[in-house]
Amino acid sequence: MTTGPASDRARRSPASPSLAAATPTAGARIDARSSPCATFGETASSRPTLDRLPVDRLRGVGTRLAERLARLGVLSVQDLLLHLPVRYQDRTRVVPIDRLHDGVDALIEGVIESSELRTARRRTLRLRLYDGSAHLNLCFFHFSPRQAAALTPGTRLRCYGQVRAGLGSLEMIHPEYQRLGVDEPGYSAGDLTAVYPIVDGLTQSSLRSLIAQALEWLEREPEMLPEWLPEGLVRDLSWLSLTDALRFLHRPPRDIAVAELLERRHPAHRRLAIEELIAHQLSLRRFRRRRRQGVAPRLRAQDALRQRLIEGLPFALTDAQRRVAAEIAQDLSQPQPMQRLLQGDVGSGKTLVAVLAALQAVEAGYQVALMAPTELLSEQHARNLTAWLEPLGVTPLLLVGRHKGRERARLLERIAAGDVPILVGTHALFQSDVRFERLGLVIIDEQHRFGVEQRMKLLEKGARAGLVPHQLIMTATPIPRSLAMTLYADLDLSVIDQSPPGRQPVRTVAIPDERREQVIERVRQACRAGRQAYWVCTLIDESEVLQCQAAEETARVLEARLADLRVGLIHGRMKGPERDRVMRAFAAGALDLLVATTVIEVGVDVPNASLMIIENPERLGLAQLHQLRGRVGRGGGESHCVLLYHAPLSELARGRLGLLRECSDGFAIARKDLEMRGPGEVLGTRQTGTMRFRVADPLGDEPLLAQAQQIADRLLEAQDHRIDALIRRWVGDRELLGRV
Ligand code: ADP
Ligand code: MG
Repeated sequence: MTTGPASDRARRSPASPSLAAATPTAGARIDARSSPCATFGETASSRPTLDRLPVDRLRGVGTRLAERLARLGVLSVQDLLLHLPVRYQDRTRVVPIDRLHDGVDALIEGVIESSELRTARRRTLRLRLYDGSAHLNLCFFHFSPRQAAALTPGTRLRCYGQVRAGLGSLEMIHPEYQRLGVDEPGYSAGDLTAVYPIVDGLTQSSLRSLIAQALEWLEREPEMLPEWLPEGLVRDLSWLSLTDALRFLHRPPRDIAVAELLERRHPAHRRLAIEELIAHQLSLRRFRRRRRQGVAPRLRAQDALRQRLIEGLPFALTDAQRRVAAEIAQDLSQPQPMQRLLQGDVGSGKTLVAVLAALQAVEAGYQVALMAPTELLSEQHARNLTAWLEPLGVTPLLLVGRHKGRERARLLERIAAGDVPILVGTHALFQSDVRFERLGLVIIDEQHRFGVEQRMKLLEKGARAGLVPHQLIMTATPIPRSLAMTLYADLDLSVIDQSPPGRQPVRTVAIPDERREQVIERVRQACRAGRQAYWVCTLIDESEVLQCQAAEETARVLEARLADLRVGLIHGRMKGPERDRVMRAFAAGALDLLVATTVIEVGVDVPNASLMIIENPERLGLAQLHQLRGRVGRGGGESHCVLLYHAPLSELARGRLGLLRECSDGFAIARKDLEMRGPGEVLGTRQTGTMRFRVADPLGDEPLLAQAQQIADRLLEAQDHRIDALIRRWVGDRELLGRV
């Protein structure tokens, strides 16, 4: 069915399963993708498998359509088969018009009784259809003169669309339709119709016809889509075959429980999901194994420095800090490179744990690199580390973007000479001109701000002289264990599940911005009482420039209104030294109120700050709000956070802010946020970019995940020859991002 001329039906000769005739561009794309392990792309008979067959080998696919498919990540015929429907339509039975009601999607058939073309204001074509039981109006806004001319009274139509209650009678707006010959039989196909994710320029009907071709191909030559899971396994667990599962999902029979399909609970889904999870596990685990084959320096120390640091602290370590510090110390003394993820809620004291690890490396005679996502945070770390470590005779060095020319060259020389025990900075640390003499440990703070690629690049860094540095990755976005095991199957996990004693949860309230004056007054009182406050301006979705402008404007207004207070401003477009100066002033108590953009979201630590105002909190994710709020509540007393929202709030936004008000457990909040927005949104697409799942839901499929892990381990243990093929099918070249 179509609402326009069938544009994608470019005449091409029927495809034959030989790659030789493929167009150079598409052929090259596919080859590049599969070249690392070409042997597994072919069956015994050396026929190309569907993963090596570019989509433009299908009838009707020219360069333009191939480009559109590529935007969906569909390059090969195999990709096309793995492009699964998001929902289904029942077009298997024609519904009498008198049985229709508002809101349903339905297939109907009838004869046009009258047609009316209106040209006033908006061009509209109105048809009145009768099927013997009742009348239905059809309404079109976009149509060609040819289309309109063909829809004359007496024509029989079959339509599919959503029924709406119109004026006086039911109607369908822009249904898909098909003209029926006088004696053409009624609809009888037995399957549900799949609805696919599409992109601009690609129609459901063209995608359906391509997938139909791919399925035909599969029917003819099933061996072109090889089963890569061990046969015994598929049989023992009575799983469907891959081919059966795919055929089912693209063309489910009409009597199936659609709810089961939509919730992805059907055995066909599970069959695909487990294969996908296995492939992801394999790719990460294999990476881990390769890395563990490297040799790391054994960082053995007498612990003198660590002991002195701990003794000098004004507080005792929490049990959780002690526990994870021991886990890390143990790893560092081994010749295999540590790959550990340290999770802990905001304020749980991750920095100190990192410093303890750093001291172990320093005492063993190695260098440490500490990387933070922003200059602001790097500067703060450098400041804190200096305060802690200088008394021990260890002087950290800061290297950020503002170090240029001669100064930078001099610093680089010192690093290369092994003169710098601890280097702190942003990812500028890992530019290729930064060379270490003996890098023993890399620490990455707030890793959710970094892409996987950056994480991977670090590994190459230390690989000099045959030694791979240990790696400690810290994050305050607490990921549920199941998700962590999926996303970070290459890492060991340590969790600080306890906050330092005496911390009180930040009391959080939501106030509409009509009461801004009251809130300003509250800031005044808090600051007069000797406390400090943050005022955070958010403008998510807008450019950083706009966000900074908003902060500048807010700072001006607040400065005027709060003339008796010392107001500072900090945002991402200020120069490093300027930002550093403001931050120092705030930390030293020389400023009462700090107006800021979300640059302060990560890591900023000023214990005396006990009030935070967040503007437009409804625009931010829960996990991010929790991070922001974590900037207060770091000292002893009671702290407050005011969510200054813009009314009216949607139901969803109200629920989210409500959750934040009631809950101060970062793990619970992150879990909720993940459920609501998905891992890509919460963790950042950069990080999860390599982890887009087609079928599996790593949050919802915990039991399946455990099973996938076992199977992946077994395959790895046996060095199974299908590993590469599985990874390529599901993860593709995304997995290879600097990982191997
Ligand atoms: P995060 O885990 O969010 O990075 P930080 O490392 O910035 O947290 O620590 C937050 C604050 O808690 C810092 O001021 C730090 O000095 C302090 N802190 C760390 N450990 C303890 C502890 N065991 N007892 C009391 N305060 C601590
Ligand atoms: Mg931190």
